[in-house]
Amino acid sequence: DHYTVTIFPHCRYVRVNTLKTSVADTVDYLKREGFTYLGQARTVEDLTLKGTHFVQDMDIPEILIFSPKTDFHNHFLYKAGHLILQDKASCLPAHVLHPPPGSVVLDACAAPGNKTSHLAALMENRGRLLALDLDAKRLSTMSTLLLRAGVTCQTLRHQDFLKVDPQSAEYREVEYILLDPSCSGSGMVCLRDDSDTDPARLSSLAAFQLKCLKHALSFPRVNRLVYSTCSVHRQENEDVVSACLQENNHFRLVPVLPQWPEHGLPPLSQCLRASPSSTRTHGFFVAMLQRHSETDVALG
Ligand code: SAM
Repeated sequence: DHYTVTIFPHCRYVRVNTLKTSVADTVDYLKREGFTYLGQARTVEDLTLKGTHFVQDMDIPEILIFSPKTDFHNHFLYKAGHLILQDKASCLPAHVLHPPPGSVVLDACAAPGNKTSHLAALMENRGRLLALDLDAKRLSTMSTLLLRAGVTCQTLRHQDFLKVDPQSAEYREVEYILLDPSCSGSGMVCLRDDSDTDPARLSSLAAFQLKCLKHALSFPRVNRLVYSTCSVHRQENEDVVSACLQENNHFRLVPVLPQWPEHGLPPLSQCLRASPSSTRTHGFFVAMLQRHSETDVALG
């Protein structure tokens, strides 16, 4: 379709793994190697890059952006775990959740684990990061990926998130949840196929996503939760969040990244959407929910 032809590939994003290195050291290394650093981008127009030019992202500081043909798969910095090859949109959930060092965090549908490794970097490897997945093969890929990234604060579990008991000793202290459940993948512009819009498949995915979201909000100490998908369908995004909030008045949506150009479909303007045209990324959706504090409740 026309997106694939005219907008993709848009640009090459890499996330600097701050567990292993810093943005400044990475920039210096790449400059010595012959790349040309143009500083921090200010607008999406600055992301149109040629040849060896690269910039720092304007929204997520640990992201560096290169021209579309740049390939890091065989690069020393990638093999050493200093660089994570991750689209900017898929860096939003951990960035928005931003659990502080020392916190107790649950990544409910975690494999292959790029968001888990991003969470660990923000936590500076301190605290507890519980990461679950239902798929054993994807979990084993994840454990390799986390090892390369120098992540040490994780506990991996081969487990169905929907069967986790939120009151159990292991889970009742969880304060932050990242919920990135299976979705249609309709935002992944390069991988799209007809099954993305099959109505029966969409309804069953949406029902699963809603179950996961309700379950996540039942953890007794959870204070913040990020829900994300790489789908562009309202049914898997705003509709899931609205349906859940309708039944649960202990949580509210919070606005994030005020400068972000694309928001959730009305009335969910607190959510973020990403797309090739507005943000030069894959299609993506992010919502952050926060527990009402006692004062909020008192103020109605
Ligand atoms: N967050 C991951 C990342 O950034 O690398 C991507 C997660 S992917 C969108 C969704 C994952 O949910 C899949 O790995 C799938 O195996 C897992 N999954 C599906 N149903 C699940 C369940 N009931 N419990 C736990 N994991 C589940």
